[in-house]
Amino acid sequence: MRTKVGIVGGGPAGLLLSHLLHLEGIDSVVLEDRSREYVEHRIRAGVLEHGTVELLTETGLGDRLQREGLVHQGVELRFLGVGHRIDFADLTGGRSITIYGQQEVVKDLIAKRLDDGGDIRFEVSDVRLDGLTSDRPTIAFAHDGAEETLECDVVAGCDGFHGVTRHAIPEGVLTEYDRTYPFAWLGILAEAPPSSEELIYTNHERGFSLCSLRSPTLSRLYLQVPPDERLENWPDERIWEELRRRTATTGDFTLNEGPVVERLIAPLRSWVAEPMQYGRLFLAGDAAHIVPATGAKGLNLAVADVRRLARGLVRLFERGETDLLEGYSDGCLRRVWRVQQFSWWMTSMLHRFDPADRYGPRLQISELEYVTSSRAAATTLAENYVGLPFDDGGSSS
Ligand SMILES: Cc1cc2nc3c(=O)[nH]c(=O)nc-3n(C[C@H](O)[C@H](O)[C@H](O)COP(=O)(O)OP(=O)(O)OC[C@H]3O[C@@H](n4cnc5c(N)ncnc54)[C@H](O)[C@@H]3O)c2cc1C
Repeated sequence: MRTKVGIVGGGPAGLLLSHLLHLEGIDSVVLEDRSREYVEHRIRAGVLEHGTVELLTETGLGDRLQREGLVHQGVELRFLGVGHRIDFADLTGGRSITIYGQQEVVKDLIAKRLDDGGDIRFEVSDVRLDGLTSDRPTIAFAHDGAEETLECDVVAGCDGFHGVTRHAIPEGVLTEYDRTYPFAWLGILAEAPPSSEELIYTNHERGFSLCSLRSPTLSRLYLQVPPDERLENWPDERIWEELRRRTATTGDFTLNEGPVVERLIAPLRSWVAEPMQYGRLFLAGDAAHIVPATGAKGLNLAVADVRRLARGLVRLFERGETDLLEGYSDGCLRRVWRVQQFSWWMTSMLHRFDPADRYGPRLQISELEYVTSSRAAATTLAENYVGLPFDDGGSSS
């Protein structure tokens, strides 16, 4: 088997890369270790930045997104029992976010790739990379009981944090930067109409909470819990009671409740591996970096990476020039670190770090008061949240 770009991982990064390359006439093969059914129903992110929506729409993936996506022009920050709205549209010249589940983006991408004759191999196993510093790298894998080898010009490692491609890079090449947080999120998906039209981020003495949504009938709700917390300690009634306590406000608000259809405990972590390239292997998305979900950035950052990678690959295959690919890692990492800082800042401002600390929470309130009263500070939050414009670094020519 032979293709130009061998893509390991059929999440948002791998599928979108394959789609963008196809639009430029560049063939690729996507190797995914899970089934189609599994990846199409894996519930994860749900907030799309302004630029992500534009990119998906411009490249022919906007039909259902435009119909079913919910456009939000602000968020609420709630603290000391009072809500304060950050008005994105006003602060960023009309930019917004769109609520559209990651699994819907994945469904749209898979359908489009298959419609366009794309090659996605689900349920592959035992993926191994070789020859990464040559100009003919290979990917060996098992599929349908047979051993296969895919020869490529370039390998894209889009296989997420737990993937294998990063581990094919020799020891000593990558530098990893890591921050773990002393808490996790307990998240539920509930069959209940959202309690508010926009997301509500709450700083509360009992810990952070977030009221989000996936559709007009599905609420996505999160509670800060200890990092080693177990789901069995949280029967539904305890979850709802804690959510009611943390979201309590002097304003007009009722927490809508309904059957819990999904639940998880997710650790919060910040992590970056640099550089994002080794020879002919390019890492993208969660394979190279993860952020705590507070800033709603993971999926959007994966999109920004593959947009840049696709441009570099087009230049390579059309003109034989490697200049954009050589700048891939540095170019991506500028945005990665901006997003790391924003996600860390949102996390730091909104969570309880140490129950015994009385100083930290006072600083948080001071910061929240500043962010919700100063136009300059509110703009900082708003422009990062809706997503800074893509930086093309000279790649548009
Ligand atoms: C539980 C959870 C909840 C999240 N919630 C949010 C949220 O609320 N908001 C937010 O912004 N972000 C959230 N994120 C982050 C966001 O979902 C990710 O940043 C996003 O999925 C990154 O896309 P990706 O394509 O880089 O990686 P992934 O989506 O992880 O895709 C990687 C793909 O590679 C496949 N794969 C892995 N190993 C191999 C292998 N060896 N061979 C072949 N294929 C392989 C995987 O099955 C997967 O399909 C969450 C992440 C998790 C894990």
